[in-house]
Amino acid sequence: MTRKDRTEGIYSRREVLDESERRQYCQLQLKELLSYAYRYSEDVKKRFDRAQFNVDKFRTLNDLKHIPIIKKKELIFLQSMGPRLGGLLTKDLGELNRIFLSPGPIFDPEDRTEDYWGWTEGFYAAGFRAGDVTQITFNYHLAPAGLMFEEPLSNLSCAVIPAGPGNTNSQIEIMQKLRVTGYVGTPSYLMHLAQKAEESGLSLRKDLYLETAFCTGEKLSEKMRTTLEKKFDCIMRQGYGTADVGCIGYECYHKNGLHLSNRAFVEICHPDTGIPLKDGEVGEIVVTAFNKTYPLIRLATGDLGYIDRAPCPCGRTSPRLGGIVGRVDTTARIKGMFVYPHQVEQVMARFEDVKRWQIEVTNPAASTKWSSPSRPAASIRKTSCCTSSARRSSCAPSSRFWPRAPCPRRSAPSKTSAPGTSPRTQRNDHQAGGDTASGLFHVRIRYEQFFPSCSQ
Ligand SMILES: [Zn+2]
Repeated sequence: MTRKDRTEGIYSRREVLDESERRQYCQLQLKELLSYAYRYSEDVKKRFDRAQFNVDKFRTLNDLKHIPIIKKKELIFLQSMGPRLGGLLTKDLGELNRIFLSPGPIFDPEDRTEDYWGWTEGFYAAGFRAGDVTQITFNYHLAPAGLMFEEPLSNLSCAVIPAGPGNTNSQIEIMQKLRVTGYVGTPSYLMHLAQKAEESGLSLRKDLYLETAFCTGEKLSEKMRTTLEKKFDCIMRQGYGTADVGCIGYECYHKNGLHLSNRAFVEICHPDTGIPLKDGEVGEIVVTAFNKTYPLIRLATGDLGYIDRAPCPCGRTSPRLGGIVGRVDTTARIKGMFVYPHQVEQVMARFEDVKRWQIEVTNPAASTKWSSPSRPAASIRKTSCCTSSARRSSCAPSSRFWPRAPCPRRSAPSKTSAPGTSPRTQRNDHQAGGDTASGLFHVRIRYEQFFPSCSQ
């Protein structure tokens, strides 16, 4: 069977706008968005008024910095503040197409507009073409990923197998019988599929037909990419986005960073002040998608990155994210899903004997070095040990990773126990993950139990 050319071509004319056209386009989109959001979103109106930001005075992209950023974590609280997801939406829930739920919990609305999540140009850049048979291994249950990635494949006239996660043997059987040419999922799960297929005696190149893979939700190391591309004889490219705003960036064939999507305006900002930084400086990725239904203006993603404006051989003129070089906080992404420390804290608080605890997440398959610029911004240095979500264990001890669980029956801490009643502590260590059907992550929870003092 002849292979398709997956290396050439551009999906949208907006991908090749020159710098001044792009600036004008973004200014126009932002001006319309700000006016609309101020008029129809109660939350935006409150926020703009509080910051004394006048939408009529928005002229250039520089003016955007006068709007305070919203941290992704704030959405958990803001969405609970009333109807229309706390006034963040500009229409009623019943007018939407779908409403998803992400960890947090955070609700992710989806409207009925075409290419709502904006991934189509990214999938084209990754090499997906009409007639591909594609297998989506992301979750279809409540979380948006599965259905979110069906949208671009439908736009590109590809057939979709909504496989979802797990059932590895069935997944491999489907890939073989239906001659699947495209994979959509996390890189670690593709590695797991490869290992299981090889263990069952299959040749990945002769018995399977994979030609392209789109990965997201996890760090993709160059080592892992090269290994998988060689094993399957396929192209593997990654995208970057969130369940709140959809596509933010995507790799092209030349894999030298993530081209910024034309459906959003992206800033790199100081994580503490929200002030935009210069090109090349590492800061928090702050995104404003041109989305009038759910106008999250200046959403701080919590991810760290930097902008690269060097020309790309693919011909796309959009600036690129040089890479996602870490997180500004202690949130971890496990199998594509965010896990917040406060969620772990809520669970651990149920065990009143637990004195203190630590959770450690590692992904050995992706633990090779990150690509990062040579000189990070000074404010980022304090988080330099957190630059890889794959190796958060090196961050301990930090107060966030060792929070003291309050003892509900005793107000004094253990150190103040009277002589003769000194507490007995026991260290525990639980591990999960490894060679499981769901990927290569290792999750380790360590905690200290605290016995007699609580019972007095
Ligand atoms: Zn390119």
